Amino acid sequence: MAKLTVEDLPLEGKKVLMRVDFNVPIKDGVVGDDNRIVAALPTIKYVIDHGGRAILFSHLGRIKKEEDKPGLSLRPVAERLSNLLNKPVTFVPVTEGKQLEDAIDNMKNGDVLLVQNTRYEDVKDGEYVKRESGNDPELGKYWASLGDVFVNDAFGTAHRKHASNVGIATNMPGKAAAGYLMEKEIKFLGDAVDNPERPFVAILGGAKVSDKIGVIDNLLDKADKIIIGGGMAYTFYAAKGIKVGNSLVEKDKIDVAKQILDKAGDKLVLPIDNVVADKFNNDADTKVVEGDIDDGWMALDIGPKSVEEFKNVLKDAKTVVWNGPMGVFEMPNFAKGTLEIGKFLGTLTDATTIVGGGDSTAAVKELGVADKLTHISTGGGASLTYLEGNELPGITAISDK
Ligand code: AMP
Repeated sequence: MAKLTVEDLPLEGKKVLMRVDFNVPIKDGVVGDDNRIVAALPTIKYVIDHGGRAILFSHLGRIKKEEDKPGLSLRPVAERLSNLLNKPVTFVPVTEGKQLEDAIDNMKNGDVLLVQNTRYEDVKDGEYVKRESGNDPELGKYWASLGDVFVNDAFGTAHRKHASNVGIATNMPGKAAAGYLMEKEIKFLGDAVDNPERPFVAILGGAKVSDKIGVIDNLLDKADKIIIGGGMAYTFYAAKGIKVGNSLVEKDKIDVAKQILDKAGDKLVLPIDNVVADKFNNDADTKVVEGDIDDGWMALDIGPKSVEEFKNVLKDAKTVVWNGPMGVFEMPNFAKGTLEIGKFLGTLTDATTIVGGGDSTAAVKELGVADKLTHISTGGGASLTYLEGNELPGITAISDK
């Protein structure tokens, strides 16, 4: 990789500032799903096993007013982390000042310290000042002054320019490295987009075309085929003059969809048939129709012929990137298309199969096929930014090798 990684840094006896993604659900002071904490363990363990003093920074939720703070303290995360590492974790309930500085000074090699939620800096004396989220130059400089080297392992925030990722890194030139999670994301998403083994097939779904125009634009030049499913398919239907009934259509995006269709030729693969419903409800009356959708009916999933056609396009692929469900997968009666495609990807053992975060990640996990795929991205927004071919400031700021 062209960027420094944690293994390139001197760690023994060093104060290692680490940006991790501990943005986990917390209810009544207890951590729910701790996947993100578990995902950060390999890099943390590497640092402490090599004699580093791990000083961890993370955001949690959004803080816009003073009252948001108590419910968004990282204290419960320190407890869970301590259990997972099987060693004490010092929690410092502030983000700056003597208490934090003293706690860091008291650390020994191999110790772990968690700093309070970085977004506490977004509200000062009751005012929404966005010091963390606005990458306040003084804040990044201050945090950087607390350590010797920096490791960024928070891919989920890499598309944002915050003090705790970009700010710290830019103040530690030559000493800012990627952690294992970050390295993995860069490797899989980067290779898939810039240097894919072919055929390279992208599967795009989800509700809106407007969210994915940048991705389609970028991938049209790079992928061999782009499969379109989910709600966004019906704006393309409208662009082709196919009747859509009451299906989801973004009227102001029909022209863009036409332009994409013109440019794409047969690269774009749309559903042939759909499961249509008489209302947006799991208990709706349903039927499968090919082509035109009558008024009073809305397409909520792709149909069986579409599934077969999509599988046919996918069967020889060597690289697959998937972002967005094929239908309203939250309702069991409209989850089949997403399930079938997910299951089929799991059988493509010769291919690199990547799921690009967000709802598709939730879907493959729920469907139990996640462990059969090559890489499940941890960042929805960040992976979309990557697929759009846009810069991720959090990655740019990491030092080059
Ligand atoms: P996104 O966040 O853009 O990936 O979109 C995911 C959402 O799209 C999910 O909540 C799905 O329920 C929704 N979705 C997928 N297919 C359809 C459809 N045919 N009609 C309406 N919503 C859909």
